[in-house]
This record gives sequence, structure tokens and C-alpha cells, in this order.
Amino acid sequence: MTLNTNKNTKTTPQLIDRFGRAITYLRVSITDRCNQNCTYCRSPKDTFKERGDILSYDEITRVISAFAGMGVNKVRITGGEPLVRKDLTTLIGQLSGIDGIKELTMTTNAVLLSKHAKELKKAGLKRVNISLDTLDPKKFSELTGGGDVAPVIKGIDSAIEAGLTPVRLNTVLMKGVNDKSLGEIIDFAKERGALLRFIECMPMRDGLDWETHYISIADVLEKPEIKERVDTQAIQKKVKAAAFFLPLKDGQGDVGFISPMSNRFCEDCNRLRLTSEGKIRLCLPSDKDFDLRSAIRDNATITEIQELLQQAVLLKPEAGEYNFNQGGRKKSMVHIGG
Ligand code: SAM
Repeated sequence: MTLNTNKNTKTTPQLIDRFGRAITYLRVSITDRCNQNCTYCRSPKDTFKERGDILSYDEITRVISAFAGMGVNKVRITGGEPLVRKDLTTLIGQLSGIDGIKELTMTTNAVLLSKHAKELKKAGLKRVNISLDTLDPKKFSELTGGGDVAPVIKGIDSAIEAGLTPVRLNTVLMKGVNDKSLGEIIDFAKERGALLRFIECMPMRDGLDWETHYISIADVLEKPEIKERVDTQAIQKKVKAAAFFLPLKDGQGDVGFISPMSNRFCEDCNRLRLTSEGKIRLCLPSDKDFDLRSAIRDNATITEIQELLQQAVLLKPEAGEYNFNQGGRKKSMVHIGG
């Protein structure tokens, strides 16, 4: 089958929202299914989409081609858990052939990664972000709804071996759950030359007792086990308004700190999200989205999809709203992709 992919080499950003922000980064959820049930990500009430509701690999490739022709140069594959979808390597191969996509990466829980790391690298995946909230088997099981940390560690090591590097490890901070064992995750990442990033928990799941578990980056920087290892007085290397790195005291790398809650970063937001059922999510916490699937299934051309993307980007809100007082969320993170 011949795919209608974009072969246009133009990469100047053309998707500019009402606030002058150029969109160059797309996060693509390819499934809402996951082989873990992380307490902060998925509610027991969350159900899965039917197979026919989810975009096919060819449909995803067409949408990303349309984005690439408008200046999007960075794509991150996510889920649910992307590795639970069959033949992911096929999709990666298709996407890595799109002109203009300079960075193709994936976020995964790494449970299934050891089986696929090499073939994914060969197909064109550049690197992976891996979720790792604790190394303690009991806590890991509690946090992930019965998960086992051993295959995750194996997955991390196989990603490094396959050259999906630099591997980034993402740790969502949960007070009373993993905030007393952050030092050992720093040591684990350092031993492997992986880049660890601590991320504040967001209220992104219906029924999550967020206020009990939230801990800010500022509070984490005060913890003795962090001060022992990280030079918290060093000049912060800013990546974005709400993301910075600090060096390890022994000079053997950096640790990242991301504060989506205590230090919002809407001004420099350059991203949109494509959900597995073909909706453009305009802003992580805002439930407003824009349907593309019906147009795609009506055989819209790349130009027609691009016209829809122009309409969608104008709906991107200036800043995200968590709607704490409205009780519950329409969509949990597992349906959005992080
Ligand atoms: N299954 C994959 C994984 O575990 O990495 C990819 C999907 S997961 C939704 C993507 C990212 O979102 C993960 O790094 C996860 O830790 C993060 N995430 C999920 N819920 C979150 C929350 N409430 N606050 C902060 N990050 C969250």
C-alpha cells in the first residue's frame, strides 16, 4: 500500500496559535491500553476504546506527515503503553521515513522493552523516556497495581545497550509513597549514565487524592538525600521555564527537575497531542479537543488535514486549567499520554 505521506522538505513552523506560540512538537498516543495501573495515571473506572475507534498506523502516519509539513520536527510516541500495541516497529519505520521529523522518541514503562529495543532502534527510534518511580519491589507493585520492577530494569539496560540513548528516567513524585527513596533512584541512574528527571504529580486522574500526595520540586530540593547528592546551590541549567537541571556533587551527571504544578510553563508551550482515537488535544490539563478522525476516515488529503490543524491550533488555550473544583476529570492521563 502506498502511504500518502508528506515529502515536502519545508520545516518552517506554520502552526502558530493565537498567542504567537509555534507548534514544533507532537506527542502521539497510539493506544489507551496499558499493562500497568499506576495510581496517579489511571482510574479503576477507566475503560478501553474499541479497536475500530483507534487510529491505524497508516492513519497516524498521515496525520504526522501533515504536521511535519507544517514545521513539527519532534514526535514522541506514548500511550497507554505503546509497547502493548502490536508491530510497533512497523509504525516507527513509517514515521522515521517522514521528511522533517528530526527527533522520534517514545515514552514507555519498559516492561516489554527488552524484547524490542534493538528492532526499534533499527527502525529509526532515537531514544526513550522510561517511567521509574521506585526501585523497591513492594512499593513498585503498589504504585503500578501489581507490577514487577525486574523487567523494567531489564528494559532500561536493554535500551542503553541498543543505543536508545541518552535514556531518560522519569520519576513522578508522590509524597508518602516514593519521596523517601529518591536517593537510590539518583544512584541507579548515575550508574547507568541515564538522565533522571523528577516530575511533580499532576491531578490528572479522576478520584486521585492529589492533595495528599503532591510534593513540590522546591520541597524535594530540601531533602537531605537530595542535598547529599545534588549541588542544589549550583546555577540551574534551564531547559524551559519549568524544567531545569542541577549537577551531581561528584560531577558525574545532572538531575532534572520538572515542575508543571508549582511553576507553570504555558508561555513557552510548543506542543500539541494526538490521542489514540484521533483527537487533537490542545493542552494537557484542558479537556477541550478537536476531532480529526472523521476527516481522516473520509480520506482527507494531507492539505485538508493541514487546514484542520490550522483551525485546531487557534483553539489552544493561553494556559492550562486543572479545574480542581469541578470534581473529577473527563480523561485520565492514561487516555492522553503524558
Ligand atoms: N506507559 C508509558 C509510561 O508509563 O511511561 C507512557 C504513558 S504515561 C501516561 C506517560 C508519562 O505520564 C509517564 O512518564 C507517567 O509517569 C506520566 N504521568 C502519568 N500520570 C501523571 C500524573 N498524574 N502526573 C505526572 N505525570 C504523570
